[in-house]
Amino acid sequence: MSTDRQVRGVALLGATGSIGAATLNVIRRHSERFRVVALTGHQNAAALDALAREFDPDVAVLSGASHDSFEPGWKGEWRYGESEIVRAANAPDVDIVVNALVGIAGLEATLATLREGRRLALANKESLVAGGELVLEAWRDGGGELIPVDSEHSAIHQCLQGCEPAEVRRLFLTASGGPFRDLPREALRNVQPEDALAHPTWDMGAKITVDSATLANKALEVIEAHYLFGLPFDRIEVVVHPTSVVHSMVEFVDGSTLAQLGHPTMEVPVLWALGFPRRLKDQMPRFDPIAASPLSFESLRVDDFPMFRLGVEAGAEGGKLPIVYNAANEVVVAAFLRGTLSFEDLPSVVEETLSHFSCEPVHGLDDVWQTDSDARRLASTAVESVGRRTGT
Ligand code: NDP
Ligand code: MG
Repeated sequence: MSTDRQVRGVALLGATGSIGAATLNVIRRHSERFRVVALTGHQNAAALDALAREFDPDVAVLSGASHDSFEPGWKGEWRYGESEIVRAANAPDVDIVVNALVGIAGLEATLATLREGRRLALANKESLVAGGELVLEAWRDGGGELIPVDSEHSAIHQCLQGCEPAEVRRLFLTASGGPFRDLPREALRNVQPEDALAHPTWDMGAKITVDSATLANKALEVIEAHYLFGLPFDRIEVVVHPTSVVHSMVEFVDGSTLAQLGHPTMEVPVLWALGFPRRLKDQMPRFDPIAASPLSFESLRVDDFPMFRLGVEAGAEGGKLPIVYNAANEVVVAAFLRGTLSFEDLPSVVEETLSHFSCEPVHGLDDVWQTDSDARRLASTAVESVGRRTGT
């Protein structure tokens, strides 16, 4: 841990991504409080090199490339390969690990950080969805802090400060509804990757942007909320709020409901996760209630976006099913972005994959990897057979 307690060491996993960029913007403005100790990227060597030159960390990890793949400009310590991610997160001077990796690739770092008893600022929701019980165990055993960076969960975490679990009646996760909120059901058939990548309110990485269009993202978030806040699924509601001003709400047993509001930028949740339990003074856009008016809410079109129901049911049944849902979702999103699977076929592949599994309990990390890889194989086969049928 850092010897100078004023300056906290940060390992940023997924520095070359969208949450990575939001985190580094926050750190640029608060360099007297946070020092970048480690940066990781996967394949974008040029972007990681530029960040390493700017932040001069103790180590830079390129997890998806080899040392002979590029000539770095930064002359510090480079490491290569996926196993180096956890090593970077566990480095001695790290106080806070920001997990901004995408997909289940983030699971080992989530577990390792919590086991080491450090603060985990968690954007990588897939690790909590697939590793749920294991993450809770590592959190309990290691005594680390788990602070969500996902905006809805950050909002709830903020609303929950100072209250007891028994005082909470329900959580309301808000959903923008994605780019197809208003699109008639028939038109959903013909949407293309570029349509799905045009999110109305948030600027995010490709995978989560597609997840927002299918509403799989909201299902992943319901599961994430279940593990983070310990509430059963029937006390976690989702409500569509198109302008993303209210980031989520908590209803308490006394009839009060608290919400967290603000400009839709991921820098606010990052700042909260880094600075917790204090609020750090920052130059975020100021809130203007008149400009934000009116605040409107509507129901989710559950029947038109089956990925939501499939995910919540998998989460509620538990065991292996959330791992399978997450893996099949990663496969179908990649296929959709490659143009080999149409938007309307995404849920059927996920449903078909889920049908091969039951909610039997997960026995350790090896079981997670085995289930994940079995589900990926089955989902890939299902993608191919849909492709043969439809000619995509
Ligand atoms: P991006 O796709 O923008 O970035 C992903 C990062 O992970 C990049 O640094 C990428 O490296 C790296 N990466 C990709 N694949 C692997 C892999 N197999 N192993 C290790 N590293 C890998 O994603 P986002 O920043 O949008 O999202 C990150 C996480 O945060 C996701 O779990 C997402 O659901 C969550 N989240 C994101 C929000 C957002 O606003 N963006 C909001 C709430 C949650 P490289 O590019 O160098 O290949
Ligand atoms: Mg979110």
